[in-house]
Formats: sequence, structure tokens, C-alpha cells
Amino acid sequence: KKYVADENRYEKMNYRRTGNSGLLLPEISLGLWHNFGKEDNFKNARNLLKCAFDHGITHFDMANNYGPPPGSSEKNLGKILKNDFRSYRDELVISTKAGYGMWPGPYGDLGSKKFLVASLDQSLQRMGLEYVDIFYHHRPDTDTPLEETMGTLDLMVRQGKALYVGISNYQPEEAEKAFKILKDLGTPCLLHQPNYNLLNRWVEDGLLDLLEKSKIGAICFSPLAQGMLTDKYLHGLPKDSRAVKDSPFLNTSQVLEMLPKIKGLNEIARNRSQTLAQMAISWILKDPRITSVLIGASKTEQIIDSVKAIENTSFTEKELQLINEICEL
Ligand code: NDP
Repeated sequence: KKYVADENRYEKMNYRRTGNSGLLLPEISLGLWHNFGKEDNFKNARNLLKCAFDHGITHFDMANNYGPPPGSSEKNLGKILKNDFRSYRDELVISTKAGYGMWPGPYGDLGSKKFLVASLDQSLQRMGLEYVDIFYHHRPDTDTPLEETMGTLDLMVRQGKALYVGISNYQPEEAEKAFKILKDLGTPCLLHQPNYNLLNRWVEDGLLDLLEKSKIGAICFSPLAQGMLTDKYLHGLPKDSRAVKDSPFLNTSQVLEMLPKIKGLNEIARNRSQTLAQMAISWILKDPRITSVLIGASKTEQIIDSVKAIENTSFTEKELQLINEICEL
């Protein structure tokens, strides 16, 4: 059956300007790191994307290595774009990245021109796209001159393979250098993509200030600390959760260690009439320096729950203080 998007979708979401660019991004974006690979349920993946778009989520975030196996999420996204979203391409912002290991040998990893050019070409082919809206260098590579890596991002834009470029996981000092190089080349950096949530606040130590000063956007990944900042682990360890399934990135002992904090935060969320997932997202969105919160989801109900976060993004001083005490800051 042909997919027709909800006609009220744009009334359900707020959009923020990305730095001082022309691009607006939804306050909540959807990432395809987990749940979209060859080993995942394809029908569910399709439903997740439709559900997101029906709620005004216009931005899908990808990377070359998402799967498993690496590359398979881009292939699945390509299929779904072709079958369901063909008439919506110009309503979507699709990103991809390169920077982690993709193929054997010295040219399949990190930040050389050789790797990035080949990787983006492969990504475009897998997704069946002529260009991506945003191309990121996924992580810093201290052995490749920054001029080469940033010069390649500039080249991608000049070749029409990407409209905008960004960087991810760069510390403030190297980010600032990268911004300067890109600006001088005439391709300003659009976005930085860092990890940021209630339990991981490293960006508050310089990065957010730098982004504000440089007029560059911030899109924060793992806002729910991979699912820990939700109510899903409050009453045990669900079999279908990321921590219990064999993700190398989250295990049950990490969850159990966080449980006292999760319980405390859940109480505050309840007093605000929010779910913990909603509060965790709202808490990030309270800061105007943030452009978008980049969530993941394994079920459509999670997206429906999480998007309600945009309805209440203000916090009292008392709430903020209590939250910080629970997080032991
Ligand atoms: P989150 O912190 O949002 O975690 C998502 C997980 O939380 C879901 O898979 C689900 O877990 C659970 N969840 C989500 N919503 C709810 C809800 N409302 N109620 C209960 N549980 C919920 O983000 P991710 O860690 O998935 O990262 C998001 C995106 O960020 C990625 O897809 C990717 O695009 C990007 N990213 C970028 C990185 C980079 O280096 N640049 C690194 C990591 C991520 P479950 O599966 O257990 O149901």
C-alpha cells in the first residue's frame, strides 16, 4: 500500500535554525545506528521512518558503518526511500558520515581524502541518492592533516555530493581549527554532532560555547544514554532491549550501575508529568544552543512517546538543582 504522510505533520514539530545557515532542523531527529540493519526487522524499520516523518521528523541520520553488517542500514534506507518516500525526498534531510573502519587495508578508515571520497561514493550508491544533505567526518584523525580532511569535505560540496558538512566527536580545540579551515575554503561547517545527555555533560566544558560563538549548530546523539534514561529498565531487563541484546555498546552491568540515578530522575519526570525519556530530551532542548536532539528507537511507540518532549522544555531552578544532585554533579 502506498505511503501517504500525515498532512498535519508540520504542526506537530518545531524547527530550529542550524547555526546561522539557511537550514532548519526538527527539534527531534531520528538516527539509524541501531534497528535498521540487515539483521533487523525490515518492516519495523519502515514503520519507524514513516512514524517519524508523520510526526514532523524531517531529518534521518545515517553513517557508512551502520548495520550490522556495516553498510546494510544505508541499503535498507535506500529501499525505503525508493518505495515509500520517493515523492518526499525534498522534504527530508539525510546525512551520512565516514571516519570509522569500513573495509580492510590502509584506505578504509579514519580521515584521508582517499577514504572519504570512496566512502561517500559507496554511501550514495547504497542509498540510491545523488547527494546527501549533510556529510560528516565521524571522528577526529590526528594522523591526517586537518587541511586534508576538511579540504575533502569542501570538495564533496563543490562536487555536489553533499549540500552541507559537519564534524562529529571533535574536542573544542580541534573543532575550532576545523571550523577555521572550512570557513577559509568557503564551505562553512554546518553542524557538530557530539554525545550529550543528563549523564554525559562533556559538551558543557567549552564545546557549546564555541559552537555558539562560531554560529554553528549542535545535534546531540544518544540523548537517552542508549535507552538508560527511560522507564524501560526500572522493573528489570527486558529481553528485547539494547542492553540485553548483544550490542557491544551497552551492557546490563552499565544499566544496573546507573539504576539508582535512573530511579531518582524518573521521580522528577513524574512530578513534571513527563516520562523519563521526555524529560531527558526536554532537558537538552532547554538550551537554545542546541539545534536538534538525535534519538534512536526500536519501536514506533518510543517515537510517539519521545516527540511529546517538545511540549515542555522549561525547567525550574529547583528541578535543575535536584536533577544535578541525582546525577551527582
Ligand atoms: P538514544 O539515547 O535515543 O537511545 C535510543 C534507544 O533508547 C532506543 O533504541 C530504545 O532502546 C530506547 N528508547 C528510545 N526512546 C524510548 C522511549 N521513549 N521509551 C523507552 N525506550 C526508548 O540514542 P542512540 O544511542 O540510539 O543514538 C541515536 C542516534 O545518534 C544514532 O542512531 C546515530 O544516528 C547517532 N549516533 C552518532 C554517533 C556518532 O559518533 N556521531 C554515535 C552514536 C549515535 P531499545 O532498543 O532498548 O528499545
